[in-house]
Amino acid sequence: MQATTLDVTAIRKDFPILQRKVNGYPLVYLDNAATSQTPRQVIDVIVDYYSRYNANIHRGVHALSQEATDAYEQAREKIRSHFNAAHSHEIIFTSGTTEAINLVANGFSSLLAEGDEILVSAMEHHSNIVPWQMLCERNGAKLRVIPMNQQGELEMDTYREMLSGKTKLVFCNHISNALGTINPVEEIIRLAHDSGAAVLIDGAQAAPHLKADMQQLDVDFYTVSAHKLCGPTGVGMLYGKEEWLRKLPPYKGGGEMIAEVTFEKTTYADLPHKFEAGTPNIAGGIAFGAALDYLNAIGMEAIARYEQELLAYATQKLQEIEGLRIYGTAADKTSVISFNIDGIHPYDIGTLLDKMGIAVRTGHHCAQPIMDFYQIPGTVRASFCFYNSIEEIDRLVEGVKKAKDMLL
Ligand SMILES: *Cc1c(COP(=O)(O)O)cnc(C)c1O
Repeated sequence: MQATTLDVTAIRKDFPILQRKVNGYPLVYLDNAATSQTPRQVIDVIVDYYSRYNANIHRGVHALSQEATDAYEQAREKIRSHFNAAHSHEIIFTSGTTEAINLVANGFSSLLAEGDEILVSAMEHHSNIVPWQMLCERNGAKLRVIPMNQQGELEMDTYREMLSGKTKLVFCNHISNALGTINPVEEIIRLAHDSGAAVLIDGAQAAPHLKADMQQLDVDFYTVSAHKLCGPTGVGMLYGKEEWLRKLPPYKGGGEMIAEVTFEKTTYADLPHKFEAGTPNIAGGIAFGAALDYLNAIGMEAIARYEQELLAYATQKLQEIEGLRIYGTAADKTSVISFNIDGIHPYDIGTLLDKMGIAVRTGHHCAQPIMDFYQIPGTVRASFCFYNSIEEIDRLVEGVKKAKDMLL
C-alpha cells in the first residue's frame, strides 16, 4: 500500500532522532501517545533561545529580558490563536496537563460543598482521576464514573441520567490515550451546561491529532501538553474561560503572581499571571509556539487524514494475526491501537519488539480502570504520528508475528 496524503519522506528528515538505530535496526518509534518526537525547527528555537536571549521575563528593563518576554508572549498568542480562545489571558502556561488539572482541582476545592458531585469518564488517565479523588476527600463531594461499553465508547444515555442539579463538574478526555476513542465532547459539554455544571476536557491526546476550537466547544477548561505535539517536555497549557479563571483562587504563591505584597495582605496579579508564580519554562513556552507553527505548516487536516490511513492499514494488518485482539474499537477513533495476543503477556511482546528496534508501550498506560474493565493486566499499545510510514507498520506487523512465534 502507498500512503497518498503526506510527503512522509520529506517530513521524516525534519526529525533527527528518526535517523538513529536501536539494537542494530533503524528505529521504529510507535510510542507517540506517551511523547512525540521533536523536529529540528523546534529544537533550533530552544538552541536559539539559550544562545542569544536567555533572560528572565516580565521583570528586567534590559534588552535580553524584553526579547525573551516578547517571544514568550508571542507564543501565548500563537497558542490562543491555534485553539481559538477569545483572549490570550485565558491561556495559562503550566508544566503540562497534569499540572493544569491539579490547578483546576485545587481551585474548585473552595467552590464545592458536601453532597456536590463530580462526574469523570471511565476511560480517564490517572492524572484526571487522582486530583479529583483528592479534592473529594477534602470537601465531601462525590466522584461518580460515566461508564463505557465494550468498544470503548462512553454510555451517553447513562451520562444523561447521571447529570443533576448536584453535578458541579464534568471531567473527560477528548481522546483516550489507552484506546484512541474520540469522545463526543461537544455533546458532553452541552449536556453538562444544561444542568449547570462546568466542564474540563483533557486535550493532551487530542491536540496532536485535531484542532480544538475553545469558543466553538464552549468548554470551560481545556488542557494540553506540548511534548505530545512535537514540542518539548515540561510545558503545556490550561485554557480557562475568563469568568472561571477570575473565580478560581491561585494555587501556588510566589513571584510574578502578585500585584502587591505586604506581610498583612497580598493582592493578586491580573490574568494570566495570577496562576503563573515563579520563573516558568521560558524556552519551553516559546518552543511550544514553534511546535504549533510546525504542525500548522503541514496542516492539521492533512495530518488527521494521513493518520487515519495509517490506522486503517495497521488495524487491518494486525487483525490478520490469529489470536490478536484489539481493545478500543470505537467508531470514532484516532491512531492508537491497543492489543494483546492470546496466551502472551504484553510485556514480553514489547520486550521482543524493542530488540527489533520497535518502540511500543506496554502496561496499563496510566489508565488502570480501563484494564480492570477488560480484565487484563495491560496491553501492547502502538500509537502512530504523522511522521510514521507504511513501511514502519509493516515492520511492526512482522515483529509481532515473529514475537508470537517465539513466545508460543
Ligand atoms: C499524557 C496524558 C496526560 C498527562 O500529561 P502530562 O504531560 O504527563 O502531564 C493526561 N491525559 C492524557 C489523555 C494523556 O494522554
